[in-house]
Amino acid sequence: MQSEVLASIRTAVKNAMKGEFYKNRFAGIDADGIDSKQAFEKLPFTDKDDLRQAYPLGLAAVPDEKIVRIHSSSGTTGTPVIIPYTQKDVDDWAIMFKRCYETAGITNLDRVHITPGYGLWTAGIGFQNGAELLGAMTIPMGPGNTDKQIKMMIDMKSTVLCATSSYALLLAEEIEKRGLRDKIHLKKGVIGSERWGEKMRRRIAGELGVELYDIYGLTEIYGPGIGMSCKHECGMHIWTDYLYFEIIDPKTGKILPEGEIGELVITTLRKEGAPLIRYRTHDLTRLMPGKCRCGLDYPRIDTLIGRSDDMVKVRGAMIYPSRVDELLATIDGVSSEYQIMIDHLNGKDILTLFFETPLEMGEASEKLEKLVEHEFKARIGLIPNAKAVGMGELPRSEKKSTRVFDNRY
Ligand code: ZN
Repeated sequence: MQSEVLASIRTAVKNAMKGEFYKNRFAGIDADGIDSKQAFEKLPFTDKDDLRQAYPLGLAAVPDEKIVRIHSSSGTTGTPVIIPYTQKDVDDWAIMFKRCYETAGITNLDRVHITPGYGLWTAGIGFQNGAELLGAMTIPMGPGNTDKQIKMMIDMKSTVLCATSSYALLLAEEIEKRGLRDKIHLKKGVIGSERWGEKMRRRIAGELGVELYDIYGLTEIYGPGIGMSCKHECGMHIWTDYLYFEIIDPKTGKILPEGEIGELVITTLRKEGAPLIRYRTHDLTRLMPGKCRCGLDYPRIDTLIGRSDDMVKVRGAMIYPSRVDELLATIDGVSSEYQIMIDHLNGKDILTLFFETPLEMGEASEKLEKLVEHEFKARIGLIPNAKAVGMGELPRSEKKSTRVFDNRY
């Protein structure tokens, strides 16, 4: 670790400890004693549940008069997390976001059509401030009202669409359906960082006729705009002058070497309102080795492959529901519904993969089971016990993660 990185980490820890949250959490820790990478890595992680306990404004690390705005992360359950921002935080976020646009080759001649929501949520306003700082014309639409979206897109000659992947797909399909493809002027799409498959990417890019860029971020750490893909589509560049990134084994918390997949952990180096030290994002990715062909010096993280909460380890192989989805989608005769059971029998971990198929049970389904086992071994690294079942036989669930049942513990 370079000495200037260590120095900024020490400053970040000191600033964080000015607030109640880290004053308690890091009680007894001497920030000046963080004199090596190893010393830093001894600091405890911070998780979203810790932040919830600071509700409403317990995360603030500056006096009240310095706070100019709050955002809130949409907790699916329970207490939300409130993140206070100073003017400098708001400005720094815009600087990073402007850099994202520039990384995608977007300029002040572009017209940026913003569909993510405005409000407590960090999305819309982040896209807005970054585009204004760049000097581009912004069209602050927010989500919904497809007719109006398309009309404005045509009349304002929008050249950049900012959206979630699902909303971009919906707009792409509507534009195609209405035969308006040659009336729109879109050249680029900036797509929010949820995990999305290659199939969906190709459909959006094809139907809109645009280049797509992935943007990364989370409300707890400014919001979207802390990482961005470039035209080489090889991961997302991350802004290491504002943030420090680590990849850990989500089960043990151990730091993983460059190139290995694990959970992304972020430390804010310059944030004032709510600094975070070693914050667990629960996003699974890896630090990509080597330098990008685009010439940018900022390192890269890979496209997100899922959430660490969904990951299971079986006989040394990492199993992510997203990878299983993708794998099964490529095999003819296998439907999208599946279920994984992991058991510990006779001293051995056994993975059983149930999948639905419209084929007759018998010779045809057994052949398909063998094929699934073979493909699973080739691409995920262990041989499952594949079991074909008829269509509609597996329980339906809204949550993807409930497709995996770990009965070992
Ligand atoms: Zn690049």
